[in-house]
Amino acid sequence: VAAAGYDFIIVGAGTAGCVLASRLSENQRAQVLLLEAGAREPVDTAVTPAAWRMLLGTSANWGGRTVPQKFTGAVMPYARGRGLGGSSAINGLNFVRGHRSGYDAWARQGATGWGFDDLLPFFRRSEAAAGRDPALRGTSGPVKAGRPTEANPVISALVDAAVEVGYPRAGDIGGAWRRGSAGMTTTSCTARGKARPTPT
Ligand SMILES: Cc1cc2nc3c(=O)[nH]c(=O)nc-3n(C[C@H](O)[C@H](O)[C@H](O)COP(=O)(O)OP(=O)(O)OC[C@H]3O[C@@H](n4cnc5c(N)ncnc54)[C@H](O)[C@@H]3O)c2cc1C
Repeated sequence: VAAAGYDFIIVGAGTAGCVLASRLSENQRAQVLLLEAGAREPVDTAVTPAAWRMLLGTSANWGGRTVPQKFTGAVMPYARGRGLGGSSAINGLNFVRGHRSGYDAWARQGATGWGFDDLLPFFRRSEAAAGRDPALRGTSGPVKAGRPTEANPVISALVDAAVEVGYPRAGDIGGAWRRGSAGMTTTSCTARGKARPTPT
């Protein structure tokens, strides 16, 4: 393959592989080869994030299994996406950053450059989060993040119940890192021209 003149060969066109291929291809002189074991076209159900469980029995999932679990003895499904987009083509499109303290713990343990403040510019560069604090959230990146288009009344009731018993209502749990309770941030994307709508 090297003889064919590729500068970069990426194995796996999943979440990380697609991002790498996209970023590397911004240099128009770079020859990038992206290899994927699964299909180029997403299965139809992939466009409905809330139906992600239905994808577990399709060719878009490698169909892995865990070992028997220590306390239950049960063997559990272990899903991983197979096809262009990888696991992000079958996932729930919940958009979650880790908590600030988690990244800072990495840095304290020696992972220089992996603290929250080190990573924040890269988080911001990756996302377009409308209506959020632009000091913490990106505004012009490729991943569209935001509130679900329709509020789910069950989620609203759960958050109200948490507030009623004394937990604070958080604003943007993916940005400001307040402790508390709030609806999830979600994202949407387009797979081969088929939009996966923002889930509720
Ligand atoms: C069912 C499910 C629901 C999820 N829900 C969410 C969610 O709502 N929010 C969230 O943030 N995260 C969610 N996740 C997690 C998230 O999707 C993954 O952490 C992320 O997509 C992993 O990215 P990755 O690049 O490491 O791997 P993947 O995206 O899995 O990519 C790996 C790719 O490599 C390919 N590959 C493997 N072996 C080979 C080979 N030998 N040759 C060529 N190609 C190969 C695979 O087919 C696959 O396309 C979910 C995951 C699953 C499975």
